Amino acid sequence: MEGYKPFGVPMRELESVVMSIEEYEALRLADYENLTHEEAAVRMNISRPTFTRLYDKARKNVAKAFVEGKAIIIRGGTFISGEYWYRCKNCHETIVSDTPEENCDKCNSPNITKISGKDDNATDDSVTGK
Ligand SMILES: [Zn+2]
Repeated sequence: MEGYKPFGVPMRELESVVMSIEEYEALRLADYENLTHEEAAVRMNISRPTFTRLYDKARKNVAKAFVEGKAIIIRGGTFISGEYWYRCKNCHETIVSDTPEENCDKCNSPNITKISGKDDNATDDSVTGK
């Protein structure tokens, strides 16, 4: 499981905002990689209106967590499924694959974190919130 937690608050006292991987990816492509919404929608293989909806939701979730001092939990997506998702800690690329990966597609770093996978269903119940 991936996410962020505010400084100095024990996890058990912490409320969290749950963000989907698609929302995370929308925010990363638009605000970190500085793609246009059209380009980002193509990269995610979704329609432009869907991208905008995800992006708006992502920004609201991040703002809410930031202002209210809540944790952010990134979890499985709602409409992109059946694939493994990783985040590279070296180059920050998001890697999507049909099969488990050991290395980043882009920079070949082994320093990747799984953010979602086909076998993640068993852990869903342990996530606080919804
Ligand atoms: Zn990489």
